[in-house]
Amino acid sequence: MLNASLPTLRHRPFGLWPLVLIAASLLLGALPAGAQTPAPELVLYVRRNMGYGGGSQIQGSFRMEVEGPANLTAVTFKIDTTVVDTLTAAPFRVDFQTDDYGLGWHAMTAEAQTADGRTLVSAPRRFEFVDASVGNSAALRIVGPLFGIILGVMAVVFVLSMLPTWTGRRKPVPLGAPRDYGVLGGTICPKCGRPFPLHLWSINISFAGKYDRCDHCGKWNLVRRASPEALRAAEAAELRQARPAAAAPPAAPPLEKEIDDSRYVE
Ligand SMILES: [Zn+2]
Repeated sequence: MLNASLPTLRHRPFGLWPLVLIAASLLLGALPAGAQTPAPELVLYVRRNMGYGGGSQIQGSFRMEVEGPANLTAVTFKIDTTVVDTLTAAPFRVDFQTDDYGLGWHAMTAEAQTADGRTLVSAPRRFEFVDASVGNSAALRIVGPLFGIILGVMAVVFVLSMLPTWTGRRKPVPLGAPRDYGVLGGTICPKCGRPFPLHLWSINISFAGKYDRCDHCGKWNLVRRASPEALRAAEAAELRQARPAAAAPPAAPPLEKEIDDSRYVE
């Protein structure tokens, strides 16, 4: 026995052993500490069916499942010391509701028997069972800021659109007055028919146009950028509107007065 093994020892390349050891220690050093221990034979997984899972906090319907040798004959799933179920045939998995086990930290374990008479115990998986409201408030924490941003943008647009009215700096544009339509161009108010420049703060509704506020009548309308020709035409229409309006009121009283006066002439 001893004689037989000696010749093989002599043939081993002893000179390479230090190098092999250095290489092995370098490899192991690069791996996480857990990788140095042999892989456990029975691994317990906790998976979510439906509910909330945020870090170590869970709530809802979950499943315990084991991964182990092929010759498992029975698996017992436990939450703390409570046996959830014992299964004697694959698939070795069990569903549970976190709400059935009380709030707080719980340790889940699996214990398995093998056909060759061994008992395997999984490493415990620890989770904090939380109230359903935790999941809801976590969802709100994600969606909440989005709503906040949308509301904020809407508020800013509203304030900007109302500023000229509130500060009283909105001076009425005389009918037919030439105006600068600015970078966005002008449009014609569907309510009062007068042209006004599109505002930078108008709300863009993609293909439908812009939701903008008329400078003249203050009404909100869905408008599109009008062509220069259409704007000139609208300005001309304003002018036609302006002439009779400017001429008629002062003309009437003197005429009536003349007629009235004439009654008392005779
Ligand atoms: Zn208008």
